[in-house]
Amino acid sequence: MKMNRNRCAAVAFVCVFAIIAMAAPVTAADTSMAEEPTERAEKISAAAVPKEPFPVVETTFTFTEPLKERQKTDMIVIHHVGIPAGDTTAAAIHAAHLANGWAGIGYHYVIRKDGTIERGRPVQTVGAHAYGENEHTVGINVTGNFDTEKPTAAQIQSLETLLTWLCQYYHIEPGVTTIIGHRDLNSTDCPGQQLYAQLPRIRQDVKVRLAEQQLENTPLKRILNNHGK
Ligand SMILES: [Zn+2]
Repeated sequence: MKMNRNRCAAVAFVCVFAIIAMAAPVTAADTSMAEEPTERAEKISAAAVPKEPFPVVETTFTFTEPLKERQKTDMIVIHHVGIPAGDTTAAAIHAAHLANGWAGIGYHYVIRKDGTIERGRPVQTVGAHAYGENEHTVGINVTGNFDTEKPTAAQIQSLETLLTWLCQYYHIEPGVTTIIGHRDLNSTDCPGQQLYAQLPRIRQDVKVRLAEQQLENTPLKRILNNHGK
């Protein structure tokens, strides 16, 4: 299938569909690689559900299949919506992915233009956002089309906050192999050049934030804070 490399998707919200189409002819096997079969879904214990220390707008999406708990997390994949440009809700993406025949929204988080972070799939579950890589990755969608527009400052701030916590929670070292754009995994321009070009600075900012948090928790910092008292 001829794919338009300038778009993450050929029609609205079909980033995930595009991944399947680009990687191989659409077959039943391909579909099963992106969405876990019901019989393999595992019960998710409440204790395994992490809670972010910053606001995340909860959603009440119904998924058409049970979601499987992810056994490994060593990478975070950044996406954009592509078409349409501008702002998009997690609910709209969920509806579009359902219309594509998916269990529901494939991303774990959606970052709106005003920086609001909305929940997609529960973070501990296997996503459906990066062909062949869903079993070990978290997917974040930053709304917009960054082939033609820039992410807002609020979006970048929220993305860095979210990435910092994910790196801390999953013990991920920020780097070019761990915080990546969708285009690094699959044949797509997603997440758009104007967001992709910012990834080096975003990784660096996350490293600084993590270092600051670690310093806050060390005896040295407590000594420095008490110095002169
Ligand atoms: Zn993507």
